[in-house]
Amino acid sequence: MSERADCDRCDAVCCRLTVVLQPGDDVPERFTDVTDAGLPVMARDEEGWCVAIDSARMCCSIYESRPDVCRRFVMDGPYCRDIRADYIERGSRGIPLAMY
Ligand code: SF4
Ligand code: SF4
Repeated sequence: MSERADCDRCDAVCCRLTVVLQPGDDVPERFTDVTDAGLPVMARDEEGWCVAIDSARMCCSIYESRPDVCRRFVMDGPYCRDIRADYIERGSRGIPLAMY
């Protein structure tokens, strides 16, 4: 994919990745979960999307208090480009993307 990635023209594909919460993150508890391994994470819906996503606008509903991991995710960085390419290749929502 040669076109530059742009969050304004993306289905927030990165919001399907596992977001591990860090000390200092201040996320409403209803949006969080704990993995089988005991890691605190953002909860995801049955299709794999973070539950904090505003699905109508495909943007973060808690943008001002989003986790550190989300703040550090680089738009158009290698990981962004990889997951976007995978998403576009598969063509639709509902295809699980795994970070681990
Ligand atoms: S960071 Fe990348 S994957 Fe995430 S919304 Fe922006 S363009 Fe899409
Ligand atoms: S907290 Fe916001 S930016 Fe982070 S994965 Fe969830 S919807 Fe996306």
